[in-house]
Amino acid sequence: MASKKAVRTVITLECTECNERNYTSEKSRRNDTNRLEMRKYCPRCRVHRLHRETK
Ligand SMILES: [Zn+2]
Repeated sequence: MASKKAVRTVITLECTECNERNYTSEKSRRNDTNRLEMRKYCPRCRVHRLHRETK
């Protein structure tokens, strides 16, 4: 594996409704200083919800 300089960091995405942590992702600290938000399927709510990066 090629080693990259670690500007990428692993984040956890949680449902904004039930706070279930359903997904992990990566982001570049350089590009995203704000909390990441993504629309993803929440198995607990059983619908698509907005998921937000945990701190
Ligand atoms: Zn949910």
